[in-house]
Amino acid sequence: MASIFSLIAAGQIPSYKIAEDENYYAFLDINPLAKGHTLVIPKKEVDYIFDLDEQTYAGLWAFAKKVAEGIKAAIPCKRVGVAVLGMEVPHAHIHLVPLQTEGDLNFRNKKLSLTPEEFNEIAQKIAAAI
Ligand code: AMP
Repeated sequence: MASIFSLIAAGQIPSYKIAEDENYYAFLDINPLAKGHTLVIPKKEVDYIFDLDEQTYAGLWAFAKKVAEGIKAAIPCKRVGVAVLGMEVPHAHIHLVPLQTEGDLNFRNKKLSLTPEEFNEIAQKIAAAI
């Protein structure tokens, strides 16, 4: 069965899309640590990021860099932080989180509750900055 992230990349489950190319897809995390918290995935479905083939792995980070530059331009923040967990969804993904302080990257923090309108606005702002 396809992972939830494969279904998102295929457009079969809705997402707040940020960017896409032939091999990669970026979209907002629906339980964000901060406004602009984004997930970047390879379309190829592999659970553990370090099991990706070299080319897909390198391309994923290159794609994430472009997305992070868009986040930095669109969302006021000091840095865009990076995390790889994969404890919940078995499809490799990189978290990109706009940071004001180190503590903003703590996954035990309370997640933001945003309206669909807010998610859409954030996604459009970041997409336009890429
Ligand atoms: P982890 O696998 O531990 O990196 O966590 C998976 C992340 O995916 C969590 O931050 C979830 O909020 C996020 N997530 C799960 N389902 C969706 C979805 N349908 N759309 C956007 N983000 C999701």
